[in-house]
Amino acid sequence: MILGPTSVYKCPKCGNLFKNSSVKSSFSMGGFLYSDGQLIESMAPKSLTLTKCQKCNTYLWLNKLEDINTKKWQHPIKPEWRKADFAKFLTIEENFDALKQGIAENKDEEKYIRKQIWWEYNDRKSENQKMFIDENDELMWRENCIALSKLLNFNDTNQRIMIAEINRNLGNFDKCIDIINTIDDTEINWVKEKYITECKKKNKWVILLNNPMESFPTRTNSPEVESPEPDTDDILSKDDTHTQEKPIKLPKLDIGRLMD
Ligand SMILES: [Zn+2]
Repeated sequence: MILGPTSVYKCPKCGNLFKNSSVKSSFSMGGFLYSDGQLIESMAPKSLTLTKCQKCNTYLWLNKLEDINTKKWQHPIKPEWRKADFAKFLTIEENFDALKQGIAENKDEEKYIRKQIWWEYNDRKSENQKMFIDENDELMWRENCIALSKLLNFNDTNQRIMIAEINRNLGNFDKCIDIINTIDDTEINWVKEKYITECKKKNKWVILLNNPMESFPTRTNSPEVESPEPDTDDILSKDDTHTQEKPIKLPKLDIGRLMD
């Protein structure tokens, strides 16, 4: 992994400095792809978009703040920058609080936050923790799932899979299967059966879709095509001019587009 420049931000409310590092390139061995679209790569940190000032508790969109580290790679780095805290991901409670405070100014921002909440709940499951703290927690989760599914775009295949997955999470197994069966995309048809199988087993919860120890399947599973190295840019793009050698589009990661 090669680290990219560290961005430095100043809280517009209290002036507190905080930073966020980026990765210039990472050598990925694939990653753990989950049924909710999360791709966990051990060598690549998740991208951070919404955070909270640790000093004054103001929620801040990083993409709306000015990176004051304009002279990238210039040394020595200012001592006050070195001392600054790293920006943190919001917890489930903080994400709900951010929504309540009206931090989402449009549907895409609301979708981003609600998706983070959905994924954080699922992280509990994939980390073998208790899914819900209490009945209210479950109710909050359910309301978020329903609100998120209404924000997702059915015409976008990746998002349509998420709508199907949310229906499975909510126990609407027949609806999940119906939605999954509307998908016919040669790049992602390999996952359809996995969702359908879990529905038939009446399993509501997030599952791992791939075996990261195996190479990622290609569109054709052709043995002469080398297993592609997942490249975030490629995954993020919705470019339909792909060739056979390009990696499959993983049903994930439309964060970049959401924030466009
Ligand atoms: Zn602040």
